[in-house]
Amino acid sequence: NEELLERTEKLSTIGQLAAGVAHEIRNPLTALKGFTQLLKSKYSDPYFTIMLEELNRINLIVNEFMLLSKPSISDMKPNHIKILIDNVIILLQAQAISNSVLIVNEFTENMPPISCDPNQLKQVFINIIRNAIEAMPNGGNLTIHSEETPEKLFIRFIDQGNGIPKEQLAKLGQPFFTTKEKGTGLGLMVCYNIIEAHKGTMFIESEQGRGTTVNTIFPIQIS
Ligand code: ADP
Ligand code: MG
Repeated sequence: NEELLERTEKLSTIGQLAAGVAHEIRNPLTALKGFTQLLKSKYSDPYFTIMLEELNRINLIVNEFMLLSKPSISDMKPNHIKILIDNVIILLQAQAISNSVLIVNEFTENMPPISCDPNQLKQVFINIIRNAIEAMPNGGNLTIHSEETPEKLFIRFIDQGNGIPKEQLAKLGQPFFTTKEKGTGLGLMVCYNIIEAHKGTMFIESEQGRGTTVNTIFPIQIS
């Protein structure tokens, strides 16, 4: 619990910092990208391609920080999580297929709506599902399971990927913790932050060689 408090505090500080920095970087970055694109189309110099790739990478990181900076959820309305997840699956289906990953839905019939900011929650589901797909480069199933009590909605993402070593479990969600060559190590941090802003929780269970389960829990509004 103390760990959770510490993380909450760290996240809000980082979030505020991120807001300022990401904002300041964005405009000059857009200008740089534009001019590099121009140079690339004018001269056939391979260095411009590399420059553009690196600029795109900075852009990716700044975008994730921008998300961190505005978890002040603005668009809270009752939404059906099933519809949000179905939309996200459509977005990621091509990536799943190219990894031979089968996404299996095990949603309950009458999943109650959740008061949430749909775009923020979509971002959470994108990050979780993308991680699961990336953890199964040689294929497998990703099962998305729902369950509810009168007060809570549980959504679990169960993959058959490579799993996470015990000593790394505590590092999940720390900024820049990644084991991927092209990872940013910001995805889970964004997830924790957004879910917390929705008064939900997320915890990750994993066994190396067997797979990972990402558990998310959201409060159900009693009207
Ligand atoms: P990134 O995906 O850019 O590396 P994340 O914050 O999304 O950053 O994830 C951090 C790390 O957590 C990943 O690099 C990976 O090592 C681990 N991880 C997250 N989800 C999974 C998963 N489903 N299976 C195995 N490892 C995972
Ligand atoms: Mg990720």
